[in-house]
Amino acid sequence: MATIRGRLTAWYATALTLTLAGFALVIYGARRRAAFQELDRRIVSEAELTAGILAGVYRAGGVVVQRNEAGLPTLASELTATLDVVPDYLVITTVEGRILFASAETQPFTFQEVEQLAGLARRPPGRGAVDTVTVRPRGLRLRFAVRPVTGAGPELGAVVAGATTAGATLQLQELLGTFALILPFGVLIAYVVGSWIAERALAPVDAIITEVREITDGRSLHRRLPVPLERDELGRLSETLNEMMGRLERSFTALRRFTADASHELKTPLTVLRSGVQRAVRARDVPRDTLETLEEVLQEINRMTELVDTLLTLARVDEGRVSLHREPADLGAIVEETRETGELLAEPAGLTLSVEVPREPVMAPVDRSRIRQLLLNLLTNAVKYTPPGGRVRVRLDSAPGWAVLNVADTGIGIAPGDLPQIFDRFWRADIARTRTGERAGAGLGLAICKWIAEAHGGSIEVHSRPGRGTAFTVKLPRDAAADRIPPPVE
Ligand code: ADP
Repeated sequence: MATIRGRLTAWYATALTLTLAGFALVIYGARRRAAFQELDRRIVSEAELTAGILAGVYRAGGVVVQRNEAGLPTLASELTATLDVVPDYLVITTVEGRILFASAETQPFTFQEVEQLAGLARRPPGRGAVDTVTVRPRGLRLRFAVRPVTGAGPELGAVVAGATTAGATLQLQELLGTFALILPFGVLIAYVVGSWIAERALAPVDAIITEVREITDGRSLHRRLPVPLERDELGRLSETLNEMMGRLERSFTALRRFTADASHELKTPLTVLRSGVQRAVRARDVPRDTLETLEEVLQEINRMTELVDTLLTLARVDEGRVSLHREPADLGAIVEETRETGELLAEPAGLTLSVEVPREPVMAPVDRSRIRQLLLNLLTNAVKYTPPGGRVRVRLDSAPGWAVLNVADTGIGIAPGDLPQIFDRFWRADIARTRTGERAGAGLGLAICKWIAEAHGGSIEVHSRPGRGTAFTVKLPRDAAADRIPPPVE
């Protein structure tokens, strides 16, 4: 079970089921004992009462034993009539163990079975006054009690009183049936109640998870979790997380400040360097090798300036100090503007560039220079990572509420495992995979593209197959109400 809620519910349901089962067991045991005690009391009193009646009649001078036609001893007929109404099994024997009387209840019994009952008189129950016997072949389970009859004449031996356990067993079976009906409902209720309790108990944890998830990037670190008044475990957890976010925020801010300050400080010396080198290049009589070196240095300075600019932009973005200058513009025109630069990049690399723009303008409120930067970054990458002979295609489409910009190439592609990282800052794929002779970038281009797309309320996605090519799709909203229209699905 993956969630604590699931585990708590399972534990609660199990505990309640076990309690219910234990409770049922105790009730069953108590009822069983009570039912058998009641049965035992009944047969003991029947046996004693019968012995008492016999002794009473004898003492009063009445006939207890008479002879039948065969001259065998039987119980006097008046006594037979009285004892026949006893609802249980009653057998009276002589001292030798012969049957004097067997109550009406024993009528369905065979002679052998009545003999078995009479035989019990010779082996009375051990320590307890009552015992259980199975009457065969019928297989009837009887509780029985034996009472020796004293003071009722020389011939009388003992009284055996027995009663079937069927009644008590039936009652217990009914009880078990009731439990079997109730138990599933009990388990169901336990499950529902358990999951309700677990949900209530864990709701604050869910709230904390949602809040912490929302504070995922460096820009939301100023947010804090609400701390409940009670200082319980969850209150302390929120406090601890808040302290941790405070520490993270401080280090993020320090890092941002450092990046911004360092880039800013580098800008001026780089500008001075560039103008110095440019002046030196333009000077007369510069030897050829020195000129070549100076040009290489100038290229490096340009690269450095670009990197420092990008770093400064990202640091300012993080500080929330960069705002877009949005105004309605025709995206088609912006794409067309970059065609020339694209061709200048593609041609020396031996690539074919195609640009497809709809006839009618695709108006959107955008920051022209940022969109141009985004497009150029994607174009530069497409050219950089496509071997000679390949194709690069830029396409602009318009969907309801959205403009869709697509930059696709037939280049080396990106490994599926690398795709989730490519928009991360300073992330670059294995340098060996870049196009031959090409200087690898700093890994900031796509991070900037992502920021530009998202700052416009849009998105950027990538689809790539290693060895087949890569396609970046940028979706930009065409008006302020566009967020109510879902972005187009490719
Ligand atoms: P870089 O300056 O290194 O190109 P980016 O942020 O622009 O940095 O790109 C990050 C990484 O994504 C690149 O190093 C490269 O591995 C990969 N990548 C970007 N665009 C493409 C493309 N069109 N084809 C193949 N790989 C690409």
